[in-house]
Amino acid sequence: MTNRELFLLNVAQTSNFPLMLEIQRAEGIYMYDNSGKKYTDLISGISVSNVGHRHPRVLEAIKDQLDKYMHLMVYGEYVQAPQTLLAQKICSLLPSTLSSVYFVNSGSEAVEGAMKLAKRYTKRHKIISCFDSYHGSTQGALSIGGNEKLKQNFRPLIPDTERIRFGNTEDLFRIDRETAAFFIETVQGESGVRISNEQYFEALRARCTEVGALLIFDEIQCGFGRTGKFWAFEHYNVVPDILLCAKSMGGGLPLGAFISSNDIMSVLKENPILGHITTFGGNPVCCAASLATIEVLTEGGLLNEVDAKANLFLELLQHQLIVNKRNKGLLMAIEFESFIILKLVIDKAIEKGVITDWFLFCDNAMRIAPPLTITFEEIYQSCAIILDALSEVNLQLK
Ligand code: PMP
Repeated sequence: MTNRELFLLNVAQTSNFPLMLEIQRAEGIYMYDNSGKKYTDLISGISVSNVGHRHPRVLEAIKDQLDKYMHLMVYGEYVQAPQTLLAQKICSLLPSTLSSVYFVNSGSEAVEGAMKLAKRYTKRHKIISCFDSYHGSTQGALSIGGNEKLKQNFRPLIPDTERIRFGNTEDLFRIDRETAAFFIETVQGESGVRISNEQYFEALRARCTEVGALLIFDEIQCGFGRTGKFWAFEHYNVVPDILLCAKSMGGGLPLGAFISSNDIMSVLKENPILGHITTFGGNPVCCAASLATIEVLTEGGLLNEVDAKANLFLELLQHQLIVNKRNKGLLMAIEFESFIILKLVIDKAIEKGVITDWFLFCDNAMRIAPPLTITFEEIYQSCAIILDALSEVNLQLK
């Protein structure tokens, strides 16, 4: 059997239309399949490879750590330098109230941990989130997700969750004195890059403080430099009670975290003791990779170029088939009239060696979220290919 046949037979599938690219090697913004064909990765493995594939400094940190130790003990028992140095580095990039980092393995797990922490700290159980939000696929994360289609066949889910409209201040009264937490993506990703403004975030902060609900920013997709600031909430001057990150955090290895104050986090220590535990959370190799990733992102001006790079994409991507564009930094949505047109464009671009994608809850918009390391020259090259694909699709449609 070929690898492709084995993949379909023995690797569990999540759709009937997997992309089926068989990649042999990846470097920077490029991936190579087994025929040697080169692909430009404009989606970073869904906002993971913010520093590109196999960044040399990340590889070096991984190799150094491999030579010392890998897994030693479940999370939270031994003092492991990669964890402590990473936690210190992350806290140094955050306001002083966000001073305690709980390491987990994925985005969904960060959401689960934060849900438990909020319930335990506030002694309340209602959780509010936004329509069209995505917070993960595990049962807690799914319960607060804002898309009914993803949830309907998995009920019963966690009770006492409610949805309000993203960016709408009129709905904030629904966050009340029974609410444990309000979860919000600082920039909504899977709804096709939806952005709110500083007034909204200020009102949100004020409301949560007023009623004693914890404000939780999910930056699993929009954090780690994706929007041009290290944390997306830096655009809005509002500080959450709990911050979530994952995806690009591990520089290509699995790692996530929920971050809060020492005071809030301390409730996981007692009643019950070991209030949240994980075997692999904060794996030392992943933490070493993460520290190197942060150094790459924060040293050398990469984040300062994000806006200029995004603007170049938006300026170059002009075509009669494109009906709208939205972005926050290098998290971009290029909208078409229909899924059918988008799908034709995506397929054509892949044929020509450029990988884009759509969004979970916005199937007429093209996802462009390249590694932040993409050069201006590479942006010209990839946009030329996308424009070529657009022209061919346009002819096909006539
Ligand atoms: N929150 C957001 C905003 C996400 O984009 C994602 C993943 N797309 C998740 C949570 C879940 O992360 P994971 O897939 O690592 O569980």
